[in-house]
Amino acid sequence: MLLVHKYGGSSVGTIERIKNIAKKLARLKEEGNDLVVVVSAMGDTTDELIDLAKKISNRPSPRELDALMSTGEQISGALMAMALEDVGVPAVSLTGWQAGIYTDENAGRARIRSVDPSRIKEELKKGKVVVVAGFQGICDQNDITTLGRGGSDTTAVALGIALGVEKTEIFTDVKGVYTADPRIVKNAKKLDVISYEEMLELASQGARVMHNRAVELGWIYNMKIEVKSSFEDEPGTIIQEVSEMEPVSRVRGIAHKKDIAKITLKHVLDKPGIAHRIFKPLGDAGINVDDIIQNASESGYTDISFTIPIDDVDKALELLENVKRELDIREVSCNKKVGKVSIVGVGIQSTPGIAAKMFGLLGEAGINIDMISTSEIKIGCIINEDDVEKAVNVLHDGFGLGEE
Ligand code: ASP
Ligand code: MG
Repeated sequence: MLLVHKYGGSSVGTIERIKNIAKKLARLKEEGNDLVVVVSAMGDTTDELIDLAKKISNRPSPRELDALMSTGEQISGALMAMALEDVGVPAVSLTGWQAGIYTDENAGRARIRSVDPSRIKEELKKGKVVVVAGFQGICDQNDITTLGRGGSDTTAVALGIALGVEKTEIFTDVKGVYTADPRIVKNAKKLDVISYEEMLELASQGARVMHNRAVELGWIYNMKIEVKSSFEDEPGTIIQEVSEMEPVSRVRGIAHKKDIAKITLKHVLDKPGIAHRIFKPLGDAGINVDDIIQNASESGYTDISFTIPIDDVDKALELLENVKRELDIREVSCNKKVGKVSIVGVGIQSTPGIAAKMFGLLGEAGINIDMISTSEIKIGCIINEDDVEKAVNVLHDGFGLGEE
């Protein structure tokens, strides 16, 4: 059988780990499998490369930054191929370009346009394990591009699809997708299966397990993705289409995030076109505005609050300074001490009683809810950052998600 595996930065973080993975792959090869192995850069290599660039320039050119960042995966790929050969398994490492990963021109956040797996297939035919550098491709101008942080997952899923395997396996430093962050909730439970939709929502609400774009890609092509530990030999969590298997809507997981900030605009004129003028510059600057609430207006004026990633605060405040002047807004304030806790599960928003139960559990725990947002499969509450861990635990218990 043809297997597509991906090993993350911590899984290939040391020489010893690379050698261990090579031994495991050798066994799979021995059993008659063909293998395509996508690797991330070792440990914190990508961060270190970015630091190097910043030592040279505050604004390194995106093209050169991609040329630099892509080296991380080429190192781990070459080392993995050497480790395989060292245990007697013929192997070859390929860059994104050699592996036929074609992307658009957006340096630093390129999207895969197409995959031409012919070189990979050729090498497999020769009996080689093919090790592919994740996170990178090549654009029409023949420049190296990278796919955005965490992009090796997307490389793996794209190759899984192009090669027609039944599932793509993502090996990482966690055992799978949990009902809540196991570092915060002691009895958090590993899920056996989760739908693409729920996984995307969990991830966007703070659960950092996989690159979102990899899940989206899997969903579009119906490619099963298994997330599992590279250190233990146990089944992980399979991300797949499960809507029919799970007809009963229920809370599947609790997600949280702390790295957000709330921006409030006071005394904003309430008339058509104003919201557009506030949010357009933020959107143009690539700032991802999450939850937005607008208060009922009083005598033609209203207040608007919204959340953004904490790293974008300075940029957002700078842009809003202009907006404030132009629109005669009275005050722009920012609160960095907010966090968000969300319950996620297919159909929960439309199931009576679930929202009320969530608010009741938080209320009983003395946690004040600042803003509320809902989607088809999520209910999220913005709360004080210091309450986040307590809130996650209270909801996890309250909805009975733990290991008995
Ligand atoms: N090495 C890249 C990063 O750190 C890509 C990846 O690990 O998936 O973002
Ligand atoms: Mg915060």
